[in-house]
Amino acid sequence: MRNRLLTALALSFLTAAQAPAPSADERVRALLDSPAFKQAVAFIQSDQDRFVRELIALTEVPSPPFKEQARAKAFMEMLQREGLHDVEMDAEGNVMGIRKGTGDAPLLAVNAHLDTVFPEGTDVKVKRDGTKLMAPGVGDDTRGLALVLALIRTMDAAKLQTPGDVLFVGNVGEEGEGDLRGIKFLLQRGKYKDRIKQVLAIDGDALESVTRGGVGSRRYRVSFKGPGGHSYGAFGLVNPAYAMGNAIAKFSRIEVPTTPKTTYNIGVVAGGTSINSIPAEVTMDVDMRSQSCAELKKVDEEFSKIVRDAVDEENRTRSTKEGVITADPKLIGERPCGETAMSTPIVQAASTVIKAFGKTPTFTISSTDANIPMSLGIPAITIGHGGPSGRAHSPDEWTRVDPAVNVENTQMALAILLTVAGSQ
Ligand SMILES: [Zn+2]
Repeated sequence: MRNRLLTALALSFLTAAQAPAPSADERVRALLDSPAFKQAVAFIQSDQDRFVRELIALTEVPSPPFKEQARAKAFMEMLQREGLHDVEMDAEGNVMGIRKGTGDAPLLAVNAHLDTVFPEGTDVKVKRDGTKLMAPGVGDDTRGLALVLALIRTMDAAKLQTPGDVLFVGNVGEEGEGDLRGIKFLLQRGKYKDRIKQVLAIDGDALESVTRGGVGSRRYRVSFKGPGGHSYGAFGLVNPAYAMGNAIAKFSRIEVPTTPKTTYNIGVVAGGTSINSIPAEVTMDVDMRSQSCAELKKVDEEFSKIVRDAVDEENRTRSTKEGVITADPKLIGERPCGETAMSTPIVQAASTVIKAFGKTPTFTISSTDANIPMSLGIPAITIGHGGPSGRAHSPDEWTRVDPAVNVENTQMALAILLTVAGSQ
């Protein structure tokens, strides 16, 4: 009973010498038809109430940006209860644990994010209307966390093995100014950084929507400084507001492609002290994004040049006898772009499973935790948690937990996890 999946896989390798290797379709079909997988399906059906209970419990532990500790602790205790090995919190606040594989195949990390966009004090009590659950964060990405727990339990109940260890992670800092700090730490500084060879992120709704490209972004706060002075008495001195205004006007006219989608925005402008003073300092916050690393780099370079030119023009146009205008762009956010090629085993695995469930996979480019592994050359995708959800990032956020839909989606997520784990 114990290693039925493994036996099926081993058999497929043994016969490889005589017969052509089974196709990806055949391997997935063999998995879905295996007695162990059927046992998993039965378990998922029996686990529905617990899944919903845990989803509600986790949603009701607030997890504002940079303040994920309480939820991290709750999730860590749940990982412990599932019997994972080496359950711990790292220095950045991520929590994780290992489920042992049968051999030393490369490590797969499966993650969902702990943080929500909602500030401290938000009412996170779950309201329930039949199978509809309503609360801020209930879908994004608390449902991903609850799915992680259900997957671990199901694999244990059906004794489904993977060839290598799987690291299950609840990570901090996915949203907004969190700037992917959790996954960055995990892959750049954490103790598993050199072992993780594939990343399966769970975030978003539809499971059949596979994110295999990361929208990159760069964010700057640019501070323009000058000597300042009286608006009347010191008239004629350089003015940082003019330099910034000139930079904004120039930047607003740069041309970017619609495909790959590339965008820019100046979202915040601030500065000055009074109407009758030449300001000593003004600032602007700038956001640029692209589906293409090359296009993002182009916008970034154009932007730097525009800022330099605008400063030079102001210093040439007015008097610098009390001091010159300077500009200091500080990088305040960076999501590196990246891509996992269609031909990569992780993309192929997800695609084959989704088709085996009679659905059509769609491949998207988005900004998720998977940006970081992609930018480091580690094959990664993001799949949804499967639950129909809506109004993410709003107080009216909701998700549905209809058992039939949930059972099918948890199976599909499980099959993707197992196929990905076996495909490297
Ligand atoms: Zn999310």
